[in-house]
Parts: sequence; structure tokens; C-alpha cells
Amino acid sequence: MLLPENCSAKVEGIECQLAPSYVVSVKSHEGEYMLAVVCDDHKGGIEKRLVEMQKENRIPQGNIHFQPVKAVVTDCVMGINDDYIELESKRNIESDRKIL
Ligand SMILES: [Zn+2]
Repeated sequence: MLLPENCSAKVEGIECQLAPSYVVSVKSHEGEYMLAVVCDDHKGGIEKRLVEMQKENRIPQGNIHFQPVKAVVTDCVMGINDDYIELESKRNIESDRKIL
């Protein structure tokens, strides 16, 4: 899972360029869906917008849940990427030796 680098909010049609502080997801009986990422400034605005979208049935119904980005990143996402990069570079070194 790769998180977007900018907040998902748009202010008067212009995308917010701030780094996100929260991952916004909705928890329904079918599972948890990630909807957006949002900075501190737009947390309330995004929540209102998502509630409206739920009323229009444009996104899954359920509780809207804010989780700090830091908690998500340190959980396991970064660890998986680091391991993968390490495995890739080891494999490249081995294949170079075979060619020589
Ligand atoms: Zn924002």
C-alpha cells in the first residue's frame, strides 16, 4: 500500500499540497476501505464531505475512521518495502557474478 503524498482535500478546486496527517477509512460489515488521506486542517471538512457521499451511496456505509499516518507507516508498510529492496539488490549481485 502506497500512501499519497498530499492531502486529498480540494479547496475551491485546488488540491491541498500539505502532507497528510491522517488516513481516512470507512469500517463497514464487509471490511475496511481506505478512502483518502488528509492533513490536520481538512480533517473536519473531509469528514463532512464523506458523510454526504454516504448519504448519496457513493462510498460504502459505515463508521468513518481517522488513523494517524505515522501509526500506519510504522506498522508494517515501510518494513515490507525495505526488505524487498534488500532482496532485490542481493539478487542482482548474485546474477552479476554468474555472468563474470
Ligand atoms: Zn489539506
